[in-house]
Amino acid sequence: MDRIVVVGAGLAGLRAAETLRREDFSGELVVIGDEPHPPYDRPPLSKQFLSGAWDMDRVWLRMEEGLDFDLRLDISAVAVDSDTSTVTLNDGIALPFDGLVIATGASPRALPGFDDAVVLRTLDDARRLRTSLQPGARVTVVGAGFIGSEVAATAVAMGCQVEIVEALAKPLARVFPEVVGDVLADLHRANGVTLRLGEVVDSADDLEADVVVIGIGVVPNTAWLGGSALTVENGVVCDETCAAVGGAGRVVAAGDVARWPNPLFD
Ligand SMILES: Cc1cc2nc3c(=O)[nH]c(=O)nc-3n(C[C@H](O)[C@H](O)[C@H](O)COP(=O)(O)OP(=O)(O)OC[C@H]3O[C@@H](n4cnc5c(N)ncnc54)[C@H](O)[C@@H]3O)c2cc1C
Repeated sequence: MDRIVVVGAGLAGLRAAETLRREDFSGELVVIGDEPHPPYDRPPLSKQFLSGAWDMDRVWLRMEEGLDFDLRLDISAVAVDSDTSTVTLNDGIALPFDGLVIATGASPRALPGFDDAVVLRTLDDARRLRTSLQPGARVTVVGAGFIGSEVAATAVAMGCQVEIVEALAKPLARVFPEVVGDVLADLHRANGVTLRLGEVVDSADDLEADVVVIGIGVVPNTAWLGGSALTVENGVVCDETCAAVGGAGRVVAAGDVARWPNPLFD
């Protein structure tokens, strides 16, 4: 293979590039990322970085020494042509590939009626949210999943007045049994978070909040693959080796965008 293109400069994209070099791929390696930042770690964005305990120096992902790759930031891939094995970028460049790694991650699910609300996925989202979490600010988090629960816990520790509105009867009800949800609910309350469980809100206008944070899950970033020969259904459908269905053996997917069979859950 002469050139491998990795689309997505997040955790999965960076680790794919490092692994290719470690496994002796010596051709051209191009990594395309649509954010302006070098690869960074998202977990601290709802925890240490959001609270201000860590600054930006601690969120960058460590890159292997001497990783020889062409990292192009602030550029999006907008299409894949399976016939010509080419990725088209939003600066008009068409990049032929011998191998393609799709690692475009996921984006927060939008909630109609909450246009001005905040979501948390990127470093820039976290920076903006951090400045709003002033002591005494009224913060409503919609969704008691992982991100919503973490934002609520961080915000209340920063002195905000925090409530969570959740349609289901328990926090994290989709992933944990009820008994765990009860423990988490008790923990939130003990920390001073108000829980409005089993409630649905239709509009931010119905909330008395200075900051509204939406945390109702993510959708895989696959819009740019429309028109390709790949099978896309709630992610890039892969076999158990992460080879993308429809990719003619040249395309793999990794990370949050990949939908691969898991014998434990499927
Ligand atoms: C606030 C927060 C806290 C989290 N905490 C935890 C935790 O505690 N534990 C845990 O296990 N997981 C946690 N996660 C989830 C974890 O961060 C993700 O599973 C992980 O980032 C997935 O990596 P990825 O590389 O697949 O996707 P991403 O990290 O999303 O990277 C994909 C990159 O591709 C870019 N991209 C998208 N489309 C294009 C395109 N067309 N062209 C070019 N680039 C594109 C995206 O902008 C992004 O930069 C957290 C996530 C968030 C947001």
